[in-house]
Amino acid sequence: MIKYLLFALLSLSVTGGFISVVDYDELQGNIREGKISKDSAQRAFRRLIPEVKTYFYDNGGIDAPRETWVFPLQGYDYKSIGDGGRGYVSRGFDFFDGNRSTAHPAHDIFIRDNDQDDVDDVTQANVNIRSVSCGVVISVVRDWEPGSELRGGKSCVVYDPVSNGLFAYAHQSFVFSNIGDIVKPGDVLGLVGRTGKNAFAPRSPTHLHISYMKIGEDGLPRPENIYQDLVRAGRE
Ligand SMILES: [Zn+2]
Repeated sequence: MIKYLLFALLSLSVTGGFISVVDYDELQGNIREGKISKDSAQRAFRRLIPEVKTYFYDNGGIDAPRETWVFPLQGYDYKSIGDGGRGYVSRGFDFFDGNRSTAHPAHDIFIRDNDQDDVDDVTQANVNIRSVSCGVVISVVRDWEPGSELRGGKSCVVYDPVSNGLFAYAHQSFVFSNIGDIVKPGDVLGLVGRTGKNAFAPRSPTHLHISYMKIGEDGLPRPENIYQDLVRAGRE
């Protein structure tokens, strides 16, 4: 017991709460893979988010208000959002259902990539995925191979303490961000790609899948449609 306490104290002082971010990443993995009951997952989520918030401020995070949100695809504007925002379907979605959920509480933002090589056909360069908000990178999926059932592919999640919500960025070809990174709006998280069960299929045009989960009074996340925010950010 004493050994454990010493270890816990030491970890906290060395990492400034880094452990809670690592714990969150593990929780997200367990939810994704259906390895944890809904009850336990919700309890852990409620406990960890306030700790992650503390981690943000303890490690130099600076509040960025909603009006300063940045469009997530560098070099693109709001017109690249699929179906003028009508791709957002939150009905029946439960964050704690993980990879099983079939709703699409998200927006797909498409790049010019007819030959599906992840590279912009016009600029011949990869397309940067930028963080919309400030926050902490709390989950990263770096490994994905064709044949995997994982639909998000290579992805990362950023917790924004200002709006109290989670941004997920899916189907990346390369994830630059690391667990515990403190980001501001516009920081590059990774590159647009085609990873993920359906996104990899030839029928799917290359896109970023971005979702936002607002954390409610009860401490639990629910999808919120940020289409208007993306349009505003994607006009400038
Ligand atoms: Zn999508």
